[in-house]
Formats: sequence, structure tokens, C-alpha cells
Amino acid sequence: MKTVVVVGGGITGLSALYELQKWKKTTGADIRLVLAESSGQLGGKIRTVKQNGFVMEAGADSIVARKMETMPLIEELGLESEVVYNATGRSYIYMDGELKAIPEDAVFGIPASIESLAKSTLISPEGKAAALKDFYTPNETFTKNDSIGAFLEHFLGKELVEKQISPVLSGVYSGKLSDLTIASTLPYLLDYKEQYGSIIKGLEANKQKFKGGERKFISFQNGLDTLTDALEQNLGDVEIFKNTKVIKIEKNSSQYQVFLGNQEIIKADYVLLCVPHTVAENLIDDLDLQGEFSGLKNSSLISVYLGFDVPDSILPADGTGFITANTEELSCNACTWTSRKWEHTSKSGNLLVRLFYKSSHPSFLALKEMDREELLETALEDIHKSLGLNVQPVVSEVTKWTEQMPNYLITHPKSVEALEKKMAASYPGMLLAGCSYYGAGIPDCIENGIDSARRILQQL
Ligand SMILES: Cc1cc2nc3c(=O)[nH]c(=O)nc-3n(C[C@H](O)[C@H](O)[C@H](O)COP(=O)(O)OP(=O)(O)OC[C@H]3O[C@@H](n4cnc5c(N)ncnc54)[C@H](O)[C@@H]3O)c2cc1C
Repeated sequence: MKTVVVVGGGITGLSALYELQKWKKTTGADIRLVLAESSGQLGGKIRTVKQNGFVMEAGADSIVARKMETMPLIEELGLESEVVYNATGRSYIYMDGELKAIPEDAVFGIPASIESLAKSTLISPEGKAAALKDFYTPNETFTKNDSIGAFLEHFLGKELVEKQISPVLSGVYSGKLSDLTIASTLPYLLDYKEQYGSIIKGLEANKQKFKGGERKFISFQNGLDTLTDALEQNLGDVEIFKNTKVIKIEKNSSQYQVFLGNQEIIKADYVLLCVPHTVAENLIDDLDLQGEFSGLKNSSLISVYLGFDVPDSILPADGTGFITANTEELSCNACTWTSRKWEHTSKSGNLLVRLFYKSSHPSFLALKEMDREELLETALEDIHKSLGLNVQPVVSEVTKWTEQMPNYLITHPKSVEALEKKMAASYPGMLLAGCSYYGAGIPDCIENGIDSARRILQQL
């Protein structure tokens, strides 16, 4: 009998096991499936907290609906009737002491018409004049491997990028625009520049594509952990060990020895490491892989929820949240008006907000040292400044995700490719999977978990 050990019970590990178990059931194969998870609860970065009628997501809060890997899984698990969609509305940028709406006719803050540029309240007349350069300057040098920041600044000017585009885009892609390529962010912008002679004109001509954006995200009536709970309940043929940390993995002729924190050792033919790359590196402990692992980077984020005994109608009528232009005016990078965006998160319709504090913010060095009470005070101050609200919350939830957010830098794909090659040569039957490598979004992790399971099945 062959044994497959999956380390890490986040969405990647659970999806992999679901696929392996399906194969076991259909073929009747004699195979032992084991999951080792260090925490007392499965789900990893998907964790729902319910309190006083509020539903709060400590980690991920939703799934991009257009990614096709997720819906078949949701249907197979019988969860369609529990799916909820986000309400759409306007986003704001907090700047110069007030909330200013991002022009409606914009894609990631990039104007999609000359009217959108003209009406923006976020930039000065000089900034608008500078952006007109886009209409008459042809592209002579930029390729998709150049930085998206340099590309946008060249054609649309520094002010528009700094004040209106960068706050949106660097939030979505978790990084400085100067460190991200056109290819890894919005590759179609370069095509538009070539085809229409202008980024703005290109967006205008393709407006319909971006309009499909309504109801873009999904979650579940009782929170996102509905998905991981359902996967867990369906893994009847898997030996699940919770509160079981894997501390070391050693190769032993054609097998692996998986050392558990409780002194037990499991002998495995295949090992799937669905843990962050920093954990995988320690478990394998091989100097020869150090160079490749060090090419993968993480950043940090603190998430703070505040729920109030105040109706959420105090919010701007059409808004779902704001981002900041990374200044010290506020300590947060962004704030989602959760009760407005996700109706299921507040049974009473009272105000629930979520603030995000990222390591890219100048205040983060001080914030990461703060305890829960200090962070709550900081969050309340941000809410007071941005919404003018000066009352104590009735619920709160603080989670520090220290060095837990993968950063997909320009060099990331090369590092992953090199790591995979060395792993295949030195550790056949041991695979790396999860958010550190092939995409951090939940659909990417599901796809990667399923693919990794299939790679093991091919070897079996
Ligand atoms: C704050 C935040 C917000 C996010 N928002 C979204 C969003 O809205 N939409 C979206 O699509 N994605 C979002 N993401 C990303 C997404 O949640 C993650 O990329 C994804 O859930 C990662 O899944 P995973 O299984 O690869 O890893 P993880 O969820 O990190 O799972 C790894 C598991 O391994 C376990 N483990 C670690 N070490 C060991 C060990 N030594 N032995 C045994 N077990 C171990 C951990 O306890 C954990 O359960 C967000 C992430 C964060 C942190």
C-alpha cells in the first residue's frame, strides 16, 4: 500500500486531498491518505469568526467569481444555495483629510474616457494636462517585461499615477508599481497603446469588458469557511491529524520519513507540502535549495474588524470602502465597509468595517510591535478621521499575518522554476504547492492543489 502525506490543511491541501480521495474511490486503489495540520482547525488563511450577529473573515473574505476552478467544486460540494455575492458601489480615496470618490468611469483608477479624467477630484489641473500626453505620445520602447509604474507614468504623468492609479493598483497586486511588470498586471494596456495609440482610448473602446465586473466576488451565507468545512466533512477516507505539527522530513532510500511534533514518524511514498515556502524550506532543510527559496518573498498585513451598534446608513450612500494614498494621514492602507459590501456579515444592518494595515505603509514598523489594544485604538482613530464616527465598537477582531502574504516579484517565476527543477531531481515524490508558488488567490490554490494531486496520481 502506498502512502501520501499532505502537510498543511489550508485550501490547497484540502483540494489536493479531495482530488486524491476521488481517485481512490473510483479506482478502489489501496492507498493511505494522511493530512497533518499544525493548528486545531483546518482552513489556514480561511477562518471565519462570528460574534454578536457579525460575520468576520480573519483572512480571505471572498473568491473571484470569474475564475472557473471554483464553481465546479462548489457545486460538487452542494454549496450553491449558500453562495452570496458582493454588493457593488463606489470606492473612495482618503486624501487631504477627506474621502474623494474614484471617478466612476475608471479601470483600476485609470481614466477610461477624457470626461473621467476631466471630472476627477483627486488630481490638479496640471496633473490632468500632463495625462493628455497619452493621446499624442506613441510607444517606442516599452515591452511587457517593463515596469507597469514606469509605463503608466511615461504616458499618463506622475500625479495621476501617484494619486489615483497607484493606490488602487498596488493594493490589488500587493507591491510597488515600479517592482511589477506590465505582463504580470495589466498586459492588455500595452496592446491598447499599440492598437489605439492611447491607453485611455483603448480602455474606452473596451469598456464593455470591464463593465462585466458587477457581482465579481462570492462568499457564503455563513462565511467563507463553509467551503473548507465542507471539504473537511467530505474527506472521510483521509486520516486527519489536527494539532499535529510536522517538524522534519527526511529522505530514506525510496521513501520519506515525516517526523511529527508528537514524536511519531509516518513513512510516506509521496509528500505534498501545502505550507508557506518558509515552512517547507525548514522541513526539507537542504542547503542546496537555499538560493531558490530565498528568491521567494513575503510581506505582512494586519487585519482589524470593528463592529458598531450604529446603522451602516451613516456611510456615503453609494460607497463600499476607501483606500489611502499611502501617506501618514491615516495608518491604514484600506478600509472595507463590510456590512455595506457583504449583507450577510451584519444580521442587524449595523456598521461593520475592516481595516487593512500593510507592511508597505510608513507606519507599519510601529504598528507591527503594537498589541491588540493599541491596534484597536489606532483603527478607531482611523475610523474617526475618515467617517467622523466617535463611538466604541461592540465587537472587534485583530489578526496579524506576519510574513504570510506572498509577494510575486518580477523574479518570482524564475525562482519557482529553478526550485521545482531541483526538487524533482533531488526529492522525487515530494511536491511543493500552495500560495507561495503559483498564485495566492483561492482559485489559484484550488487549481494548484488539484494539479499537484494529479501529478502524484500520474506517478502512482
Ligand atoms: C488577510 C488575507 C486576506 C486574503 N484575502 C483573499 C481574498 O479575499 N481572496 C482570495 O482569493 N485570497 C485571499 N487571500 C489569499 C488566500 O487566502 C491564501 O493564499 C490561501 O488561503 C492560502 O492557502 P494555502 O492552503 O496555500 O495556505 P495556508 O492557508 O497558509 O495553509 C497552510 C496550512 O499549513 C499549516 N501548517 C503550517 N506549518 C505547518 C507544519 N509545520 N506542519 C503542519 N501544518 C502546518 C497552517 O496551519 C495552515 O493551515 C488572503 C490572504 C490573507 C492572509
